[in-house]
Amino acid sequence: MANPIHDVLFAPNEARETVFLHLADGSTLTHRAFATLAGRLAGLIVAQGVKPGDRVAAQVEKSPAALALYAACVRVGAVYLPLNTAYTHEELGFFLSDCAVSLLFCDPEHEADLSAVADAAGAGLAVLPEDPAILDHPVPAVADRSPDDLAAMLYTSGTTGRPKGAMLSHENLLSNTRALVEIWGIRPGDTLLHALPIYHSHGLFVATNVMLLRGAPMIFLPKFDAGLMLRLMPRATVMMGVPTFYTRLLAEPAFGRDQAGHMRLFISGSAPLLAQTHEAFEARTGHRILERYGLTETSMNTSNPLDGERRAGTVGFPLPDVSLRLDAGTGEGEGIGEIQVKGPNVFRGYWGLKEKTAEAFTGDGWFRTGDLGTIDADGYVTIVGREKDLIITGGLNVYPKEIETLIDAEEGVEESAVFGVPDSDFGERVIAAVAPAPGSSPDLAVIAERIANRVAKFKQPKEWHLVDALPRNAMGKVQKEELRRHHG
Ligand code: AMP
Repeated sequence: MANPIHDVLFAPNEARETVFLHLADGSTLTHRAFATLAGRLAGLIVAQGVKPGDRVAAQVEKSPAALALYAACVRVGAVYLPLNTAYTHEELGFFLSDCAVSLLFCDPEHEADLSAVADAAGAGLAVLPEDPAILDHPVPAVADRSPDDLAAMLYTSGTTGRPKGAMLSHENLLSNTRALVEIWGIRPGDTLLHALPIYHSHGLFVATNVMLLRGAPMIFLPKFDAGLMLRLMPRATVMMGVPTFYTRLLAEPAFGRDQAGHMRLFISGSAPLLAQTHEAFEARTGHRILERYGLTETSMNTSNPLDGERRAGTVGFPLPDVSLRLDAGTGEGEGIGEIQVKGPNVFRGYWGLKEKTAEAFTGDGWFRTGDLGTIDADGYVTIVGREKDLIITGGLNVYPKEIETLIDAEEGVEESAVFGVPDSDFGERVIAAVAPAPGSSPDLAVIAERIANRVAKFKQPKEWHLVDALPRNAMGKVQKEELRRHHG
């Protein structure tokens, strides 16, 4: 009997009385207590009829119990599907039906309003208790799983606007965890300052898995709060964040060597870190941020070195077990090409989408990231743009097509373009330009309100502009660059 992630990340910690989670209120949870939560939740999941391979979704606030759900799903062999709490009922309903979720976990206060959503999708609904230790379900046996079996699924939007479920196997996640622990020198004496969400690959897999592999603790915060980060940083040695975390820390006049002196490593990813943020951070703290690059579909692909030059504006070298190449065929200019990767980290495809999966790979089996890059003479990879039309705001992805489709369906709208402009806090800010249908004058405030009811807040345009027509090139493609210049 084997269960790769359970055997490597959870089982070795189960009986340990050492601290796993330091919480914001000063309390702690040992590895052993965490294993108890996971065991009880596993019992609840099995009692609801979930079988190995079934999908178990969770739309819950970040908490130790929410993290224990991941461990519980691994134990029973279910495919864990964490969902952003910002998703609306409409979005949630789509995910539940798309991959035929068996069981959805929600927070107690959402039980009433989510029961209809779960029902409509044929999913069961379970409340995640604040303290799962009170559950009295027997702890089920560990399910047998092979390295190729799915451990998790994360939805990522596409240029089509329709979110796709990226299927991640035990081997995908474990190989990446092992590589990251090695290249970042994660050790049992480390403490990770964890303020990322745990519905995304960054906070859930990159951050949590590497600490589990080393049996090391995390300071586990419900969300990013600059004041709390400043207070707790002296007790940590490693921090992982999106670029917004770093700009927000720098916006705190009190932040400097006093807080960062004890830290060993600051890591950034999920969106481009501006070279000027890198430099300002070093000037303030003496630390050079280590930037790395990955995607939901692949987990991490490249990283700047722990020892050796961390080059601002670059994402470093391919991980030891990842092969990376540039496809110059994209014709974006001298030395620029689409970044393509191969390795044990690359996902098993999109749920139920054979054709989309095939399109995501080249004929010779390389995954097409859709990111444009260069590789310099020393081997450093730099991301210079995206082939795909994507906005990253506060580290979260917004695919313009999804929002444009909704706006275009509104009365009086001819067409729309949604694009990102630079924002000092969020990296990018979402903007919409709307062209009216002939003879119409759509009310943008009304449209904005209707969109607000349908998609998560981070996807909603923060500014709306009425334009006569969208600018287009000779090929008829909307010129988002021109819109950005105009409205940025
Ligand atoms: P996600 O699937 O949410 O992890 O988003 C993946 C995308 O985020 C990638 O395809 C890149 O466009 C972008 N990304 C991630 N890390 C970086 C980075 N360090 N620099 C620039 N872009 C990044």
